[in-house]
Amino acid sequence: AAVIVAIDGPAGTGKSSTSKAVAAKLGLGYLDTGAQYRAITWWMLNNGIDVDDATAVADAAAKPVIVSGTDPAAPTITVDGLDAAGPIRTQEVTAAVSAVSAVPEVRALITDLQRSIAAEAPNGIVVEGRDIGITVLPDADLKVFLTASPEARAARRSGELKGKDPQQATDLAATREALIKRDAADSGRKTSPLAKADDAVEVDTTELTLEQVIECVVTLIEG
Ligand code: C5P
Repeated sequence: AAVIVAIDGPAGTGKSSTSKAVAAKLGLGYLDTGAQYRAITWWMLNNGIDVDDATAVADAAAKPVIVSGTDPAAPTITVDGLDAAGPIRTQEVTAAVSAVSAVPEVRALITDLQRSIAAEAPNGIVVEGRDIGITVLPDADLKVFLTASPEARAARRSGELKGKDPQQATDLAATREALIKRDAADSGRKTSPLAKADDAVEVDTTELTLEQVIECVVTLIEG
């Protein structure tokens, strides 16, 4: 039977790296749900929608066509057929995504999309995000909630930004501030806040290497 794995947690806990590696090891699909919220945010910015105007965002939410490729070795994301993988990682999108993802109409559409992608995955799928275990896939076979100290998360995020944005990468304090602000927005919203499901296994990755986290999740799946 298809195995459905939900991996939730705040930014900088190693969710994406862990989820991709676990999916590749076990022959499962991989879905980055943050990329979908970033993609719809990118479309809003490109189309002159004020992201702080929830009504305008809600009215436009169904317009962009978002397609996610679920091969963990080469995940893809397109918006209206355009490759969005690069542009969704800019600071502009990162700063706007919490506002867009807080709009219930946006969440309803993206949640439907996520459920149909998970249902169609032939061997199963690892789905990573913020609300997968509680809202999107409450019947997942395994739910993992990754955490890490704010310092560890800021350091990892900085490392990721290196090359993409050297200025931001070197400014650890600013990265930490931006992460904390985004977590607060993601945790405080009314619809599907970032939270650990009661039946999720919490893994604190602060003192663990990526390899150790991957091994831990693989062991949890294999039981
Ligand atoms: O994981 P990533 O940092 O790319 O997610 C970007 C943003 O998308 C989050 O800060 C959050 O606002 C939103 N998000 C969400 N629900 C998810 C995944 C991401 O609201 N399942």
